[in-house]
Amino acid sequence: MSKSVAAPKAGPKVGLVSLGCPKALVDSERIVTQLKAEGYEISPDYAGADVVVVNTCGFLDSARAESLDAIGEALAENGKVIVTGCLGATPDLILSQYPNVLAVTGPHRYEQVMTAVHGVVPPRHDPFLDLVPPAGVKLTPRHYAYLKISEGCNHRCSFCIIPQLRGDLVSRPIDEVLREAENLVNGGVRELLVISQDTSAYGVDLRHKGAEWRGRERRAHMTDLAAGLGELGAWVRLHYVYPYPHVDEVIPLMAEGKVLPYLDIPFQHASASVLKAMRRPGNQEKVLQRLAAWRRDVPDLAIRSTFIVGFPGETEADFQELLGFLKEARLDRVGCFRYEAVAGAPANDLPGAVPEEVKEERWNRFMALQQEISIEKLDAKVGRTLQVIVDEIDTEDGVICRSYADAPEIDGNVIIEEPTRRLRPGEIVEVTIEAAGEYDLWGRLV
Ligand code: SF4
Repeated sequence: MSKSVAAPKAGPKVGLVSLGCPKALVDSERIVTQLKAEGYEISPDYAGADVVVVNTCGFLDSARAESLDAIGEALAENGKVIVTGCLGATPDLILSQYPNVLAVTGPHRYEQVMTAVHGVVPPRHDPFLDLVPPAGVKLTPRHYAYLKISEGCNHRCSFCIIPQLRGDLVSRPIDEVLREAENLVNGGVRELLVISQDTSAYGVDLRHKGAEWRGRERRAHMTDLAAGLGELGAWVRLHYVYPYPHVDEVIPLMAEGKVLPYLDIPFQHASASVLKAMRRPGNQEKVLQRLAAWRRDVPDLAIRSTFIVGFPGETEADFQELLGFLKEARLDRVGCFRYEAVAGAPANDLPGAVPEEVKEERWNRFMALQQEISIEKLDAKVGRTLQVIVDEIDTEDGVICRSYADAPEIDGNVIIEEPTRRLRPGEIVEVTIEAAGEYDLWGRLV
């Protein structure tokens, strides 16, 4: 008698459109993890999906427009659409334009997203599909992962609506974060990117309450977090840090090689009056002193930052001050945005709007200066041997890697045009730098 084995029935399919910043990407990863855990499959296209989840961004007006377009496209192509993410915090805006959307939920509302998905297409019961790896399912390449340590923000920067959308700071317990990081590293992740709205404020809301991990008490505090992550043997990169005095405590971890010598500090401006109008802390003198002290201990420290030009009330003198700061600070990686009004942000009521052509002109001057600094800093790396992590192989340009100074997607690359052996994504290798461009470096395998 022959036995016949039924082919496994495919699970219901969900399409996912993920827009926005790395924090939104983490939300998408959590949704995918939960969908997979319940036996759903992820559809790569609209046509094959039983329902489409659109994870939106609502930060800038341009991002809102992009999110609304994405919802319209999903409705036209599939018809069954659930909206989540930052734009979901304003359901009226979405439903007035797209009344056929099935459900709207705000950011981090994974359970509500799942409830809405269940309403459209119930999960297929299959106990084997519950076996999701403990590291979860990631949308980023397997070798790096974003580690979200908190939600929300206690600051009230006048150009930003994140506190309105996401509320005050809510930190995740330290043991939960470290366990997740450990699972990720055990699952093959070689680089952890710590993200939040303000990493230096981690644990303030918990009064830095401690918890045990690996047999030792750890405080919910940036220093203990960085030290714990540094024990895992992966690259650890800190994003969205403020130059507060306690950041000094992570510098020794960088000197010891436990945490990458990289800090992402969103300065936004340097002029005291603009920073005041932005409602941001900041004292140029102190910041420059702190940078100098950090660099004394960790000469290779790479600092990334973002700035806004053309903020309401910014005068030519304020802008000159910003350029002066840039010359002194000699930052490694810099992003610059022309100020753009965000619906609902207090800055919209400020006087002294800067004309678009002035914003454009300042942006060009800013970028030209920073480009000179970047070229000089990269040129100084020619001849040095750096550790790099392999991101992509077999591209037209060669093997694409990153050094400690390059966060994925936002910074530059180190390119090996002619690798002398086969490399794998996630491998960490040594490269001697032979040439430098405006943002990237080229080198050969050691
Ligand atoms: S620090 Fe300022 S810009 Fe960043 S999320 Fe908080 S309020 Fe927004």
